[in-house]
Amino acid sequence: MKIVLLGPNGQLGWELQRALAPLGDVIALGRSGTAPGLSGDLADLAGLTSMLRELEPDVVVNAAAYTAVDKAESDAEQAELINALAPGLIAQEQGRRAAWLLHYSTDYVFDGSGDQPRDEAAPTAPLSVYGRSKLAGEEAIRASGCRHLILRTSWVHAARGGNFARTMLRLAAERDALRVVDDQIGAPTGADLLADVSAHALRVAMHSTTPGTAVHAPALSGTYHVSASGQTSWCGYARHVIDWGQRHGLALRASAENIIGIPSTDFPSPARRPLNSRLDTSKFRTSFGISLPPWQAGVDRMLAEALPTFTRATTP
Ligand code: NDP
Repeated sequence: MKIVLLGPNGQLGWELQRALAPLGDVIALGRSGTAPGLSGDLADLAGLTSMLRELEPDVVVNAAAYTAVDKAESDAEQAELINALAPGLIAQEQGRRAAWLLHYSTDYVFDGSGDQPRDEAAPTAPLSVYGRSKLAGEEAIRASGCRHLILRTSWVHAARGGNFARTMLRLAAERDALRVVDDQIGAPTGADLLADVSAHALRVAMHSTTPGTAVHAPALSGTYHVSASGQTSWCGYARHVIDWGQRHGLALRASAENIIGIPSTDFPSPARRPLNSRLDTSKFRTSFGISLPPWQAGVDRMLAEALPTFTRATTP
């Protein structure tokens, strides 16, 4: 099986390089591709088209996206190009050959009202340019009729690169107390978990058929919610990270008790974030026979992987 992976150097793309490898030949194309004529740049629609026609992949896995949520507010055209037009084009190309697209979306397609987890049928109402562009990407994929998995997720973390946990540990090493948003609720989700369950779901979906249909339409093609289980606020997440840091001997001035919860209104940002990022993952778990572990397990593992890069209070 030939798999083209776009965005292989992002948080999720990096883990997908590993998780997809057992499924077939993975051709990882970064923004500049790997060879002349093979473009992995989602801003270059003509280049994408010729790459897909040249390679004719059985599956495209799109982990690339315009993810700068605040910057998107003043860069809507580029966000729309990368998050909506490019995925739509990929879906059309894959649809022409009855091939697959695995794509990622976000809880930011919702307005974040209420306090209950949302399922896949819940009405969408994005609050930001980023959310609108991601929703437009989803809609273009569904409209194309291509065989697809769209996995909506939330609060992705990875040991690689900068992330929220790393920022909290850095700030806790510099300050006696931190103020962290306490009214946005979601589930921190490891890129490693997401990559592993993606590979499993893709394999199962590609072998699923709807009995009685002339063309054996894949029964499991569709949109799913995927996140670690449980829920917390950014403040709860920060307390967990700081507590872990203290238990592992990091040189921190602030303790978990000195993480002070604040409302989102005290931390203004160009893009509005949903307050309720809870996703109901039961459709995904039931369809693919998957268990999703608690968010704390993924965060602890990510921190342990990143530990050598943190400064310890004492040298061993
Ligand atoms: P990252 O920001 O870590 O990675 C995004 C990747 O997209 C980068 O490798 C980047 O390349 C690439 N990219 C950006 N623009 C282009 C372009 N024009 N052409 C090709 N590649 C491009 O994102 P994540 O791994 O965290 O996100 C993966 C998916 O999950 C995305 O669809 C995102 O919307 C979704 N998601 C993420 C959440 C999160 O909290 N991070 C939450 C919910 C959903 P480069 O390295 O060259 O910049």
